[in-house]
Amino acid sequence: MTARTLFLLPGDGIGPEAMNEVRKIISYMNEDLGSGFVLDEGLVGGSAYDAHGVAISEEDMAKALAADAVLFGAVGGPKWDDVPYEVRPEAGLLRLRKDLELFANLRPAICYPALASASSLKPELVEGLDILIVRELTGGVYFGEPKTITDLGNGQKRAIDTQVYDTYEIERISSVAFELARTRKNAVCSMEKRNVMKSGVLWNQVVTETHKAKYADVALSHMLADAGGMQLVRAPKQFDVIVTDNLFGDMLSDVAAMLTGSLGMLPSASLGAPDAKTGKRKALYEPVHGSAPDIAGKGLANPIAMIASFAMCLRYSFGEVAQADALEKAIATVLDKGIRTGDIMGEGCRQVGTVEMGDAILAEFKALLQ
Ligand code: NAD
Repeated sequence: MTARTLFLLPGDGIGPEAMNEVRKIISYMNEDLGSGFVLDEGLVGGSAYDAHGVAISEEDMAKALAADAVLFGAVGGPKWDDVPYEVRPEAGLLRLRKDLELFANLRPAICYPALASASSLKPELVEGLDILIVRELTGGVYFGEPKTITDLGNGQKRAIDTQVYDTYEIERISSVAFELARTRKNAVCSMEKRNVMKSGVLWNQVVTETHKAKYADVALSHMLADAGGMQLVRAPKQFDVIVTDNLFGDMLSDVAAMLTGSLGMLPSASLGAPDAKTGKRKALYEPVHGSAPDIAGKGLANPIAMIASFAMCLRYSFGEVAQADALEKAIATVLDKGIRTGDIMGEGCRQVGTVEMGDAILAEFKALLQ
């Protein structure tokens, strides 16, 4: 088997604790399944600042660019609150996203049956929920120019952000959504504001044309983004894949996230364009949560978001669908057995720490693959 290179960037706070649990899974896969993962590790965020005075070194950036996939923990913490803006911990993550050209952000919202009661919605609305939000990550109003605040000279100022999308950006993000839908329930809902925004009109047109030209077998619906937000909390199970722009995706993915209970449960993937020669996409996998300074170093962090991010890596970077399914099933089984970290603790359950949760998931994973 050809080597599969994984570059690990555990980062700060609970990042390294959660990453350790993934490392155990990878060791098992290499030793017992012959998976052939070759690991290298670097520094990002505050830990990189302490060592090199930057949020990620050039050497580690080069390794990230060369790897088949990057696994990222979390960055930040009060220790680095006052470092210069350009080298703040988050700058490392933004640099990775930019240099790897990760334009597609995948945020699944899965509600494990055992946790349905932890959602802010009624259990029957979220039990068994499995939706995927595909957010455009490198364009739109967060990056469009002009982006200015001008003094108007009359005691007033004017702030301008520019929402801008070109055809190719909408084509490529919607293609990712259609392709992913084919591996799921085969339905895409596109969300924009075509009623009030020109970028919404173009978004709607390009998604419709891309669908007609290449993905007519996938069920496509359109929804205004505000109505989409409402439907996400009214009847979230109606969706399979949602595709949307950077701004709406930022908000809608956070809404969807909260349907599932805790930040410690949420994985994500960011993908780039397929390489013209190899067909492989650059990819970075990371939990949605931050470095959780309040619990860092105490062995209390929930490693599930990090482990589920690795399951996404198996699925999307290495095509190991059966192994990804098994790892996700292992997480569900451990939750069914009432094993919980503090953030998802429920009545009658057994509270464990990071290491014990990781061990329990690994044991179920092994049992499923035997
Ligand atoms: P956070 O996600 O770190 O924590 C929010 C709350 O959720 C905390 O109470 C924390 O204990 C809890 N929590 C988060 N993940 C958990 C887990 N796996 N298990 C158990 N509990 C968990 O967000 P914050 O407190 O707003 O930010 C803390 C630091 O992280 C800041 O420096 C922030 O800039 C940074 N941050 C980094 C990222 C990233 O690396 N991608 C994302 C968000 C925030």
